[in-house]
Amino acid sequence: VSFFQEIPQAAPDAIFHLTAQYKADTDPRKINVGVGAYRDDSLKPYILPVVKKADAILFNDETLDHEYQPIAGQKSYTTAAAKLILGADSPAFVEDRVVAVQTISGTGANHTAAAFLKKYHKQGAICLLSKPTWANHKAIFNNVGIEVAEYPYWKPSTRGLDLEGMLGALEKAPEQSIVLLHACAHNPTGVDPTKEQWQQIADVMDKKKHFPFFDCAYQGFASGSLDQDAWAVRYFVQRGFEMFICQSFAKNFGLYGMYGIPEIGSWTGMINLTTGLSCLFLGERAGNLTVVTRTAQQAQHVLSQLEILQRSEISNPPAYGSRIVDLVLNDKALYTEWTENLKTMSGRIIEMRERLFEKLKQLETPGTWNHIVDQIGMFSFTGLTAPQVKVLKEKYHIYMTENGRISMAGLSSKNVDYFAEAINDVVR
Ligand code: PMP
Repeated sequence: VSFFQEIPQAAPDAIFHLTAQYKADTDPRKINVGVGAYRDDSLKPYILPVVKKADAILFNDETLDHEYQPIAGQKSYTTAAAKLILGADSPAFVEDRVVAVQTISGTGANHTAAAFLKKYHKQGAICLLSKPTWANHKAIFNNVGIEVAEYPYWKPSTRGLDLEGMLGALEKAPEQSIVLLHACAHNPTGVDPTKEQWQQIADVMDKKKHFPFFDCAYQGFASGSLDQDAWAVRYFVQRGFEMFICQSFAKNFGLYGMYGIPEIGSWTGMINLTTGLSCLFLGERAGNLTVVTRTAQQAQHVLSQLEILQRSEISNPPAYGSRIVDLVLNDKALYTEWTENLKTMSGRIIEMRERLFEKLKQLETPGTWNHIVDQIGMFSFTGLTAPQVKVLKEKYHIYMTENGRISMAGLSSKNVDYFAEAINDVVR
């Protein structure tokens, strides 16, 4: 008998399946607004100019090697990442109650945080997720044996935040629940609470002793301002909460995956793939789990346990992506350049929102579309229904997830009018 005989075939991942369908489509008008990766106005993947510079510096740095990294990652990296989200003058830093470990991008940060909570948080505690949320959240928590429940978030009638529903659910949840909050640029809705709404959320969280679990995948990418996108997290720190913050550098550094053959000045073409230099295939996936505790001693205890957890899971985090981030965050000139690159990306996305909105208005498309410009970040929750999404795919070769979410990065100055005309047709 074969043990593997019992293993059923799983359904393909919805988003990656959508991309495969898009790739197989030969219509020249096709548009992919499914996947959440940034594209420039020619719809090409974008390597940030500052990342190219950092690449060149790293390749020419003869002091670097391929030794193991520390279990928690390089301190210069984890500290810079933690300062980026908390602010260098955060009371948590002043009081020495911040620790961090490098993770495999944002997904790894979520996983490590969830695994730690399963081990150490109140037994049987549930994690509350926004309805809807990034599809992976439920899978990540369930994987480590934490049950999830949902709090209302999206209000279809206003195409905005269901604040009352959210506060009510947080109020009703058992005390000391884990509450997952998107730090900014909520995925998939693009709807963030206002400052006043965050205050109300913090009030209930405080009253119910809930644990804030911030997922921050879009800092600087949403508004174009690193500080503005960190506002909610910093506000919770100010209010005295202890918390986890999961940081991803996939979007804001354009470090999504693996870098194949480097195209760096004179190095191009000089590298022989048969030499077996492992540095040709560079693991990027840079993330960080930042922990804010109440005391300095707690912080050290938590770090020691996180290191034990990390050791059993990945032993040592990958070096390359974190070296790029480390270099940029710790160098004044590169950092300034990075903030400009962030403005280029967020600016293009904001411009696409405006162009789409204007075109829909011009076509007198039925319904209200202000949410397209009011929402923030990579995604927009259009309010399109599953049958409309289906027509868009079959008739217009436009690919998006069934829930009507679009990635603004899939639009460009060349296809936005066609996209608007297609929407205009399917909603009539
Ligand atoms: N959280 C959210 C809300 C996300 O949208 C993403 C990216 N899709 C992530 C975490 C993590 O992504 P990555 O592992 O690529 O950093």
